[in-house]
Amino acid sequence: MRQRYTLLLVDDQDVNLTILEAILKDSYDIATARNGQEALALMAVSPTRFAAIVLDVIMPVMDGYAFLQAKATHPEYQNIPVLVATAAQDADSEERCLTLGAWDYIPKPYQPRTVRLRLTNIIARSQEGLLEQLVYVSEHDHLTGLLNRAAFFQAMGACLRAMPDAPYSLVRMDISRFSLINTLYGTEEGDRLLLHIAGAVRHAAEEVPDSCCGRIEADVFCLCLPCAGPELKRTLSAIQRDLAAYASHYYIEPCFGVLRITDRAMECEAMYRCATLASRQSKNHYQNHVAYFVPEMTVRDHQEQLVANEMEQALEDGQFIVYLQPKYDIRDGQPCGAEALVRWQHPERGLIPPDVFVPVLERNGFITRLDAFMWEQTCILLRRWLDSGVTPCPVSVNVSRQDLYDPHLVRRMLALVRRYDIPPALMQLELTESAYMDNPQRMHAVVMRLRRAGFTLLMDDFGSAYSSLNALQDIPVDILKMDMHFLAPSRNEERGHSILYAMLRMAEALNLPVIVEGVEKRAQCEFLRSIGCRYAQGYYFSAPLPVVDYEMLMEQKQHRSSSAKSCVPLPDARAH
Ligand code: C2E
Ligand code: CA
Ligand code: CA
Repeated sequence: MRQRYTLLLVDDQDVNLTILEAILKDSYDIATARNGQEALALMAVSPTRFAAIVLDVIMPVMDGYAFLQAKATHPEYQNIPVLVATAAQDADSEERCLTLGAWDYIPKPYQPRTVRLRLTNIIARSQEGLLEQLVYVSEHDHLTGLLNRAAFFQAMGACLRAMPDAPYSLVRMDISRFSLINTLYGTEEGDRLLLHIAGAVRHAAEEVPDSCCGRIEADVFCLCLPCAGPELKRTLSAIQRDLAAYASHYYIEPCFGVLRITDRAMECEAMYRCATLASRQSKNHYQNHVAYFVPEMTVRDHQEQLVANEMEQALEDGQFIVYLQPKYDIRDGQPCGAEALVRWQHPERGLIPPDVFVPVLERNGFITRLDAFMWEQTCILLRRWLDSGVTPCPVSVNVSRQDLYDPHLVRRMLALVRRYDIPPALMQLELTESAYMDNPQRMHAVVMRLRRAGFTLLMDDFGSAYSSLNALQDIPVDILKMDMHFLAPSRNEERGHSILYAMLRMAEALNLPVIVEGVEKRAQCEFLRSIGCRYAQGYYFSAPLPVVDYEMLMEQKQHRSSSAKSCVPLPDARAH
């Protein structure tokens, strides 16, 4: 049985309404209105109630033209067809109504057959339009208009089937710390950025025939492209350039995970999982934001899952422990402080280094709890040393970028050192350079407050991220920490040395002390000494030590120093 539609008849003349009702009442349910305003009021109650409207043109209060204009401002009425009833041979008003959005017209006096036929036609047309709209909505992302997840996988399947021999790649892209952009600048800005990214992705796909693109969820976009190698790199570089040009006040860091499609029998969803595993890898690299899937990643994924399953219990059971790696003053070869580094004493797997689990915890957010634990353990140690009558050397702790987004960070840090009655200068804070670059203004504010509270700030991994040496003048840190490995890769030691030398000179000009970490060889130590670097850390001096070993080392030092004075701690740049 055919569905019974409801019509809205709009006319101020009773006689016209009666005639129309008589023609249509067998096939339709009927509602009536005396002018445009009444009609709009009825539609507002239930926008989807009417299958079509038959509209008189000349009416009091609101005529047919004004009604059509008002209707056009409501997108939800777009699909309700309007049949305008005009006096015969009134070509002008017919044309005017059609331009205003009427779908068709019927001349008065009414011919029953014509009225019924034209109504049936426009209703059928509107149903088709509705169907098209439904299909569109179900396949496209409402914000960006790109294909949504399901539709993208279908389009991808179609591309792969159509071109069985082309070297396709699946690219997954997202933005590092996108949720922060929403938090800091509001969802409206977040949406604007997503629209921009969608534009960049769409443009890239349009440049490559037989490709497709879509938005999978949130800030995750995908491209399926019939290329690999340099051609693919060019496409990704173009997207990177486009995104880099978007905002001047924050840094957009796209991360790409790429699967070179070799096994065509794989489900598209499974291919997507591979690209996702690859993209996680790209997040761990400073400069290289493109990572290609390799099968070992599946194994790693499994290991990550293990870490995530066990971390809560491990923290509760005290499986995370503090190791201390001494820092040395290379002028007299004496230890002058330490860095607290976490280790996981796993009941079955033994001692696990942080490289295995810290990146996982950074991704799932647990790192903030582990860091808080490490800071407290460090306070406990410092308290113990103070109680035993020695003036301890400062110990630095690592502060993750996630910690910096805690609005209570400064208060929490202060509460902690107060609880254990530790001078803040004894607890130094290592912040990785790339965290500064995420959002320099905000970091500036947090760092200033931490310094005002008495903490000493070290910029960890300096030179690894994006800051130019010039930017140093604006960054309020006390000490720069550089990694020998970043600066002197074994391939070109000489060049690394000259970079290190230049950086040291620059730091000197800015009155910033430097500590070089990762010093493994005597020659490196000699070189550092020769260029006037004062502080170093690395296996050449000592690996990270269990706390008891560190305590022994410091005791020996005390015995050695004839005056029995406490060690010379790492300086505080503000004293310069
Ligand atoms: P990092 O902060 O840059 O720490 C220095 C790393 O270099 C340490 O690795 C240290 O053991 C290692 N290292 C020291 N001397 C040498 C050397 O001569 N040669 C080489 N090749 N490496 C050396 P570790 O302990 O494995 O820690 C790795 C990273 O894990 C740390 O890098 C840090 O980013 C993170 N991490 C460690 N503990 C914590 C923590 O409590 N909280 C947070 N958020 N991250 C931590
Ligand atoms: Ca560190
Ligand atoms: Ca470091």
